[in-house]
Amino acid sequence: MPRDLPRRGLLGAAAVLAAPAAVRAQGSARLLVVGGGFGGASAANFARRAFPRLEVTLVEPQPRFITCPYGNRVLAGERQMADITHGYDGLRARGVRVVQDRAAGIDPVARQVRLGGGEVLSYDRLILSPGIAIRYGALEGYTEAAAERMPHAWIAGDGAQLTLLRRQLEEMPDGGVVGLAIPANPFRCPPGPYERISLIAQYLRRAKPRSKILALDAKDAFSKQALFQDAWAALYPGMIEWVSASNDGRVVRVDPAERVLETEFGTRHKVDVANVIPPQSAGRIALDSGLADNTGWVPVNNRSFEARAAAGIHVIGDAIVSGPMPKSGFVANSTAKQAVASAAAALGGGAPPEAVYFNTCYSHVGEDYGISVVNVFRPDAAGTAVAEVPNSGGVSPRGDLPEQRRLEALYADAWYGSITRDMFG
Ligand code: FAD
Repeated sequence: MPRDLPRRGLLGAAAVLAAPAAVRAQGSARLLVVGGGFGGASAANFARRAFPRLEVTLVEPQPRFITCPYGNRVLAGERQMADITHGYDGLRARGVRVVQDRAAGIDPVARQVRLGGGEVLSYDRLILSPGIAIRYGALEGYTEAAAERMPHAWIAGDGAQLTLLRRQLEEMPDGGVVGLAIPANPFRCPPGPYERISLIAQYLRRAKPRSKILALDAKDAFSKQALFQDAWAALYPGMIEWVSASNDGRVVRVDPAERVLETEFGTRHKVDVANVIPPQSAGRIALDSGLADNTGWVPVNNRSFEARAAAGIHVIGDAIVSGPMPKSGFVANSTAKQAVASAAAALGGGAPPEAVYFNTCYSHVGEDYGISVVNVFRPDAAGTAVAEVPNSGGVSPRGDLPEQRRLEALYADAWYGSITRDMFG
């Protein structure tokens, strides 16, 4: 286990083998959902639509959810925070009990969740979608205090991180350098850092055209790489320098006071704005409950999304490791439905239904310029593994295709509208 991750006692075999708490008939069973983001809100909404007799409770500390998707467009000045902020009234209207609190502990044997405010909620099935936690300390010098000077803006929370990064970009003089530190796999949203580079460039080209972007990467290759690099050359010539791990791009240390990003071989890059996207793990509650393994992510059955470490707890979203499926909002939404259907089936003594999962990751690269990657995945019968369906999916074609790029930017906007409606009603 990485040294910065807490070592908690894993749930013992007793928890795995424990007899389920008295399961009531599906008609009156209690489905508890922890985390009201892409996985959790999708699960709560779908549960009420598809299994209207389930009692659904959603626990989420934030009164409103700010999406990471389209946050990069806020950085570009193309969207406002209000455009990416969503409330829970639609879910309430659908009959979900929304509890504004934080899950502080899970007892998988008693099937209970203790909230930060002291309330204890009992469940027949639990769906946990807590997203990610930042592994503070995994990069030397990158502490919570450092994030106030070198924002990550990789967990939306109350929006403060994104707002801070946007303000720093606005305050930077023309001719400044924006430095990004990009982590190794796996991390939330594989194309996200490269969309961010593109949309910061879009802003700088308009507002501060003498500025530069230095992207220091802990990898040698990245999602939709050829498409991104074609677009950078065409739209932002000379503005973006991407440094691979092999070329000493891996940041290992940061100095927030000096705004320095230091690489593996000791090169110190002093920048004007530093966006550090640090190494990550499953959200805190998954670690504290012993659901994650020594990688910091939660292993699950790929058909039911039940945690390997505890019966009755379905874990979805970025917190899990599930074969080649990326940590995306699209996958969180797609797998949320399977987790709900599996939970409902289990309440009636049945097996998880047949499954197929989808992912489409759109990236905005500039004005009227979108690209995408599509994947289709299927688990094996036992849920032991999940694999991409052969000859499915694909990426946008390369080449000078302005109409294709314009349409993909529109499809991205339509996707954002439809997925947020599917989450929040
Ligand atoms: P989240 O959506 O983060 O939701 C987790 C929720 O759990 C949060 O609301 C949190 O407050 C709550 N929570 C945490 N701990 C507790 C607790 N103890 N008790 C109760 N609640 C708790 N994906 C795409 O598909 N398309 C995109 O274009 C895209 N763009 C992105 C751009 C950026 C810059 C980033 C950073 C990500 C992007 N993503 C995109 C990825 C997407 O945001 C995530 O994959 C998605 O949010 C994962 O859903 P989740 O439910 O696991 O986590």
